Amino acid sequence: MDLFEYQARDLFESHQIPVLPGAVATSATEAKSAAEKIGGKVVVKAQVKVGGRGKAGGVKVANDAQDAFEKSAAILGMDIKGHKVNKVMIAQAAPIASEFYLSILLDRANRNFLVMASVAGGMDIEEVAHKTPEKLAKVSIDPNVGITPEISAQVVKAGGFPDDVSDQVAKVLRQLWQAFVAEDATLMEINPLVKTSDGRVIALDGKVTLDDNASFRHPNHAQLIDNDATDPLEKLAKEKDLNYVKLQGEVGIIGNGAGLVMSTLDVVAYAGEKFSVKPANFLDIGGGASAEVMANGLSIILSDPSVRSVFVNVFGGITACDAVANGIVQALNILADKATKPIVVRLDGNNVLEGRKILQTANHPLIKQVETMDEAAAKAAELAAQR
Ligand code: GDP
Ligand code: MN
Repeated sequence: MDLFEYQARDLFESHQIPVLPGAVATSATEAKSAAEKIGGKVVVKAQVKVGGRGKAGGVKVANDAQDAFEKSAAILGMDIKGHKVNKVMIAQAAPIASEFYLSILLDRANRNFLVMASVAGGMDIEEVAHKTPEKLAKVSIDPNVGITPEISAQVVKAGGFPDDVSDQVAKVLRQLWQAFVAEDATLMEINPLVKTSDGRVIALDGKVTLDDNASFRHPNHAQLIDNDATDPLEKLAKEKDLNYVKLQGEVGIIGNGAGLVMSTLDVVAYAGEKFSVKPANFLDIGGGASAEVMANGLSIILSDPSVRSVFVNVFGGITACDAVANGIVQALNILADKATKPIVVRLDGNNVLEGRKILQTANHPLIKQVETMDEAAAKAAELAAQR
């Protein structure tokens, strides 16, 4: 999950990383009262999860609260690279003397973490990396060691930070690492990390990505989810603990095992070319595939208005096909007249004959059994095109 800047600011603050007073606002009036509370000059900043807001006109200095009102009114509703601005952050303005860059990220390829630091901050760091790579220090971090005071000092040296800020920057980097570990982040970036004209080092803009796989350890992260931007079906699926991703097509997909579901998407996309239909979603119901899970999965897929047919593709393993078949039959009983779209089922693997027999005996009008994955995909695509 990517955070908004104001959320990153709050998170930084809670880990003692120096930030300036700031508050989020969804209207110009709210922005004005936030600016009054902060007092003096403020910066109005568009809250969108995309970089380069400054250049796009989404960051503006306001002289007083009334000016903050006007600048917020202009920024709210703006479109920045396809992201509509629904919120602004009002932050105390800083007298900037220099702008630096500091980040920690998960380095998947090398199975460790990477710190990047540069005195050429503020602007596009990709450009710095590309045009003047010598200005971007990169230091890999052993997760078992972390960022010790020694390593922190080494990064600051490699980044070429001036002496008058080196201790402060080294301290911020250590705090950033502590925050990174404590929150289970995969990215924490400060750009710019500034030196103010009175010599303080402050994080002015933050970018944070939290590892959703660790969300069970952080119940408080749930409040950071941007519900406005979450697809309603994905939200529902998440509440039911289903591994669901909404796609743009017409053939609903249910399978057991992420690998099988991925190949099912490919096979349906291929079969669907002839009929101009595509997979409508990814849904992995995992190993268990109980009636309840199947019913939850089917109910989410059937409530997607763009779905015109469903393909249930199951390979029986530890959970055998007869158990899955019973799950499907019970799921359709649970759903009753909420089930309205044709369902193509392909069962294979452990206890396949028993499974197929259960579905035959149930003789549900919506279910069509097909023995192979390719044929089933073709059938599901054909049914989706007919409706
Ligand atoms: P981004 O363009 O989305 O990365 O937005 P930033 O928050 O990094 O702001 C872009 C630029 O606006 C910064 O690099 C600063 O030059 C400027 N800026 C941001 N906050 C302040 C501030 O408090 N005072 C001043 N003078 N400039 C600021
Ligand atoms: Mn920035």
